[in-house]
Formats: sequence, C-alpha cells, structure tokens
Amino acid sequence: MTTQHSVAIAGAGPTGMMLAAELTLAGVDAVAVEPRSGPELAGSRAGGLHARTIEVFDQRGIADRFLSQGKTMQVAGFGAVPLDISDFPTRHPYGLALWQNHIERILAGWVDELKVPILRGREVKGFAQDDGGVTVTLSDGQSLRAQYLVGCDGGRSVVRKTAGIDFPGWDASVSNLIAEVETAQPPELGFRVAPNGIHGIGKVDEGPRVRIVLMEEQVGATAEPTLRDVSELLTRIYGTDFGIHSPVWISRFTDMARQAATYRAGRVLLAGDAAHVHYPAGGQGLNLGVQDAVNLGWKLAQVVKGTSPASLLDTYHSERHPIAARVLRLTMANVAVRRTDERSKALAETVAELLGVPEARKRYAGVMSGLDLRYDLGDGHPLVGRRMPDLEVVTAGGPRRVFTFLHRAQPLLLNLGGGEIDSPLQKVDARYDGPWELPVIGAVPAPKAVLVRPDGYVAWAGEPADPKLRDAVNRWFSQGPRQAA
Ligand SMILES: Cc1cc2nc3c(=O)[nH]c(=O)nc-3n(C[C@H](O)[C@H](O)[C@H](O)COP(=O)(O)OP(=O)(O)OC[C@H]3O[C@@H](n4cnc5c(N)ncnc54)[C@H](O)[C@@H]3O)c2cc1C
Repeated sequence: MTTQHSVAIAGAGPTGMMLAAELTLAGVDAVAVEPRSGPELAGSRAGGLHARTIEVFDQRGIADRFLSQGKTMQVAGFGAVPLDISDFPTRHPYGLALWQNHIERILAGWVDELKVPILRGREVKGFAQDDGGVTVTLSDGQSLRAQYLVGCDGGRSVVRKTAGIDFPGWDASVSNLIAEVETAQPPELGFRVAPNGIHGIGKVDEGPRVRIVLMEEQVGATAEPTLRDVSELLTRIYGTDFGIHSPVWISRFTDMARQAATYRAGRVLLAGDAAHVHYPAGGQGLNLGVQDAVNLGWKLAQVVKGTSPASLLDTYHSERHPIAARVLRLTMANVAVRRTDERSKALAETVAELLGVPEARKRYAGVMSGLDLRYDLGDGHPLVGRRMPDLEVVTAGGPRRVFTFLHRAQPLLLNLGGGEIDSPLQKVDARYDGPWELPVIGAVPAPKAVLVRPDGYVAWAGEPADPKLRDAVNRWFSQGPRQAA
C-alpha cells in the first residue's frame, strides 16, 4: 500500500523531529519514518545545547521545557579553554547541560502535541524520484509517496547513499569507546591524561550509572564493541575495570570528518548527521542538525505550498553547507589541540594564550555558541543575515518579546518607525527605544523596520520606503508589500 504525504522524513532523531515540527507549524503534511519503536535513546549521547539552539527553541516557545530539565552553564569552549559568553547580549548567555536522551524525549513530546505522524518500527530502504515526487520504500513492504524526501537518518544515511551524494572528507585519526555501565567498585571519576590521549569517567544523571570514554589504541576497528572490549581497555589504562556490568550503551566514535557534497539532489534533501559528521569535541552536531532543520523547514513548506519556486531550496545548501564546513575545520583543530604529545601540548598552550585576548575569546565564543552566525544574504544593514535579537518591544497590546511573534514559524515584518507599511506578511507595529546590540560585533544602528524570516534571521532592515524591502519580500516569500509608506 502507498500512502501520500507532502514531505517524507527519514529518521526521527533531533533533526528529523525538529524538521517535522517546523513543517507542521507551517501547515504542511509531513510524516517521519523511524526504526526505533519509541522515542527512548539507549545512551545519553550529546551533552547539551549551545546558546543559539536554546534561542531557536525560544523562537518556538519551547525553550523552558529544556531549561527546566537541565542545568545552565558556560559550555562553549575550544580544546580545554572555556569560552565564557555571559557578557553576550542574549536572554540565554549560557549553554544547557542536558543529555540527548532527555532532549529527544522533550522534542518527541512537542512533536506529539503537534500531531506529527511518526511511523515507528520501520526504516527507509530506498526510494525513486521522478518529476512529480519521490516514492519511498519502507522495510515493512509499504511505500510512501511524497513531493519531497529529507534524509535525517544519521551519519550512515541510506538516503544520502541511495541519492548517490558524495561524502568527502577525512578518515579517522582517533577512535574512542564509549560505554554507560554500572561498576562494582567506585570508579576513578574525572579525566586521565595518557600518552595516547585523554580518557574520562563521569556520572550519568543521579543513579548508579557512569559514562566511560576511552581513547582506543588503534583506529579502524569495524566490529561492534562489547563489554569485554571496554573491560580490557579499562584494565590496560587504569589497571582495573572497576567491575563494570549492566551496560545500557556501548558504542564507538571517531574523528572522521565528512560532509555531503550537496544537501539537495532534486526532490531529496539531507539534514543533520546525514549531511555532516565530525568528532563530538565542541558539542556541535546536534545543534547543527536542529538549525539545519529550522533553515530548511519554512523553505520546504513554501515550495510545497507553491508560494515559492523550488530554487528557494538551493539557498538551504548555500546557507547551511558553509556553516557545517566551518564546524568540521574547527572540530579538526579541536582534536589537534587535545593530543597529548609535547608538540600538540605546545600548540594547545599557544591557542589558550591567544584565546585569552578578549577579542579572540569573543570571536570564538560567538562561533561555538552559534550566536555569531551570519548567512550571506547580501549587503545592507549589519543585521542582515544575522539572528534577530529577542528585543522587548511595545505594541498597542502592551510589551511583547520579538520571539513570541515567531512561535508559529511565520515571517515577521516589524515596523518600529511609526509610519504605515502595507504587507501581506505578519506585520507588527511597535516601539523600541533600547539599544541594538549583537554578540561579537556590538552596537548597530537602530532600523525603522525589520523583515525577519521564520528561522529568526533578518532578511532586510532599514527604512520602510527602501525599495529593497519589496525585493527582500519577493525574494524570500515571493509576494511584495502592496505599497510601502
Ligand atoms: C559521544 C557523543 C557525544 C556527543 N556530544 C554532542 C554534544 O555535546 N553536542 C552536540 O551538539 N552533539 C553531540 N553529539 C552529536 C549528536 O549526537 C548528533 O550530531 C545528533 O544526534 C545528530 O542528530 P540527527 O537527528 O541528525 O541524527 P541521529 O541522532 O543519528 O538520528 C538519526 C535517526 O535516524 C534513524 N534512522 C537511521 N537509519 C534510518 C533509516 N534507514 N530510515 C529511517 N530512519 C533511520 C535513527 O534511528 C535515528 O533516530 C555527540 C555524539 C556522540 C556520539
């Protein structure tokens, strides 16, 4: 049997769930296919969120769900150097320590409220695309027909491979075993620096479990790691395996760094780990995936609804590919400064000294937190291509935070000049007398009006009479304001 949807999503990890929610908010019928029978994740995986991802959730009105479950702290860093963002102009000048299994549970709850269908217990086996859509084959013998298919199916993406999209990059130079287990004896908590790298043991939430991360002696193992492998390696490093037992998760990760050559092949797109993989140092992967989804969601919705041409989807690649490419390079550098040989230690000390210079700290804190991201949307006001700050503006109905106008993932034309702007888009007349300040670059001139895309990035800012406003509305939403005062 074949069922029909506007968009099929392979994978309901963080990226797939975020994309499904974005499409649903935009009124598009999306379905996700996920092999896991429920939203539970076997291990804890990613350790939390960076500031921009918290803002992105705030734009949809769900940040508190995450903040209430985790611990806010300064999480941005490079190598062993913490990068404090507490002086950045944002409501969230911090990161959030919260394990990925909790993040996914919270996202699953939201997606459930939005009534997004998730076909669980089955996987995408393949697909064929033609001029009218994509036919997706599932492991249960059923198939889906959709206008577009998005592969959010992780680093080993079947969608990427079936589409024949190249995945160039760098092979692994280091390999880690990771395990979540209980121990019979109290383990040595904390980091242990050894000639071949850094090993670590830490608690997982409250309870008896610990998370063990060990640098392997060799790269290139292909068999799934076992409790015995972890025990043997622990014994070689610590002289004991602390009596490990009751594993809930044993896995391996490396610093292989690869990125899809293109994020779009006709009616097939890639997002999240399906589009880019790298070492977890710096904690960027999940954050990148969520932000890929938020960049793609509204564009795909407009194309599916026929209000924008399919070429709008090419801006997803042109905007997001360079962001992940930069993360890959920074992560490779992060691996280099974590090596424990004398030359790498000397490099790490040099980098630490440089990051002590306030301007350098700010710049890299801006990158690692995601707050300094700028899409190349052309010239204009310094806000263009950057995130809209969550200002508190005064409307006829009282004070409102700008992010509240983005909860439904709609574009926003914010008129702060007092004149008339006629626009078919969501338009808000408001006053704002406070400062305009952006992370890293500082104060910027106050614009009279701002056009904000549903992903929270500024498409245009300036005087309402500026003809470029009409151009920007046409470019992004294919509809111009009827007249500009
Ligand atoms: C040890 C470790 C620590 C990390 N720490 C951090 C961190 O601190 N911060 C951070 O941002 N990131 C971190 N990451 C990276 C982060 O876990 C990933 O980047 C993130 O999970 C990517 O999300 P995703 O949804 O794109 O892919 P995934 O989480 O891999 O989800 C893909 C989904 O697709 C499903 N799937 C697979 N095949 C198919 C198929 N054929 N059909 C349909 N569905 C399929 C899978 O079941 C899965 O649910 C860490 C990773 C590791 C391993």
